[in-house]
Amino acid sequence: MASARVDLDGNPIKPITICMIGAGGFIGSHLCEKLMAETPHQVLAVDVYSDKIKHLLEPSSLPWADRIQFHRLNIKNDSRLEGLIRMADLDLASPVVQIINLAAICTPADYNTRPLDTIYSNFIDALPVIKYCSENGKRLIHFSTCEVYGKTIGCFLPKDSPLRQDPAYYVLSEDSSPCIFGPIEKQRWSYACAKQLVERLIYAEGAENGLEFTIVRPFNWIGPRMDFIPGIDGPSEGVPRVLACFSNNLLRREPLKLVDGGESQRTFVYIKDAIEAVLLMIENPSRANGQIFNVGNPNNEVTVRQLAEMMTQVYSKVSKEPSLSTPTIDISSKEFYGEGYDDSDKRIPDMTIINRQLGRELLLEPKDIALGLARVDSYISTSNIRRSCKEGYFK
Ligand code: NAD
Ligand code: UDP
Repeated sequence: MASARVDLDGNPIKPITICMIGAGGFIGSHLCEKLMAETPHQVLAVDVYSDKIKHLLEPSSLPWADRIQFHRLNIKNDSRLEGLIRMADLDLASPVVQIINLAAICTPADYNTRPLDTIYSNFIDALPVIKYCSENGKRLIHFSTCEVYGKTIGCFLPKDSPLRQDPAYYVLSEDSSPCIFGPIEKQRWSYACAKQLVERLIYAEGAENGLEFTIVRPFNWIGPRMDFIPGIDGPSEGVPRVLACFSNNLLRREPLKLVDGGESQRTFVYIKDAIEAVLLMIENPSRANGQIFNVGNPNNEVTVRQLAEMMTQVYSKVSKEPSLSTPTIDISSKEFYGEGYDDSDKRIPDMTIINRQLGRELLLEPKDIALGLARVDSYISTSNIRRSCKEGYFK
């Protein structure tokens, strides 16, 4: 398998060791799966939790068992982190050459209610990772967010302005769009602001100290193992991201709650499509270094209301249960999230840079059902949600 693999320039890909921080989360679990199933690479998986990658760690007879090691540690306060990044005292087939940092608090319900934890997690805790990479000459792939763009320029135009239809006022481009956040009292932006400052720091480390880096800005990646079902495999008071919120409502036969009328728009991308792009970044450093990449599907846009309607239809089809007579209800953001919430109005990624650098038309076609919510139907099927409740996580 290893010898047949070539990069985008036709060069053979050598097996490497990757230290993946936050490997036990939604994106990390899919990335680990991909690396184990399709590549010869070795992974040091770092996280405080391992439930979502348990199927990759046990039993020891798994074909990749010698290529993945789990290290349970909290990067906030564990001196082993530097050793892992430097690869001190480890018996590895190949040196650690890349660090992927996914660790973060990244659920919007936390941004305005736990702003300190959000800022510490997304900014302060990332600092040693960046420092160790820079000092030890390790390449860093850092996960930022599309949220660094904040609001679109277009949302400040009058509602009936024809300019709102002009892509120049809403398409989000890495090298030209401004980052527009609300006032400080809108603590929703604590996350975006922390992520933005980390991006600037990484960029500066690249410019001044030669750090090799790639920054990833995911645009609403969705799929199995995303977040948790409140009260089942997560805190009962917890509020996950929208896909898990709506799945929870459907399972409990409650109306889906549309925050401020569900008018916000999002482009969704199926996790396995997005992971393809990340693997290209890992295996093509010369094309990905020094770059900031949007990763999303500009052709997959829906309003949150449309998402609710689609998920309700799919759920009703697969569960054979009729929809509720009132399938959705409106709720104010203050009631749902509390003081200080604010929202991104619209998120359409410009995919020019990633397509140019990674050499193919990535993720551009809309997928099947209606507006193209890629394979979400299988995710929200009754059996998946029921299994999640029984076993703990979506599989
Ligand atoms: P996730 O919450 O599922 O995964 C994050 C993982 O990091 C968790 O397993 C968590 O336990 C771990 N972690 C957090 N703090 C840690 C610490 N101090 N020490 C060790 N481990 C720690 O989130 P995700 O959806 O997989 O997102 C991963 C990254 O991508 C985040 O940086 C997030 O901001 C970014 N992102 C994701 C999306 C998306 O669409 N899923 C969108 C924008 C940005
Ligand atoms: N949202 C909603 N109902 C819910 C959960 C979320 O209407 O039960 C909305 C939320 O206000 C936002 C969108 O769905 O406009 C996406 O929210 P998510 O938490 O997935 O993260 P975001 O895309 O804002 O980072």
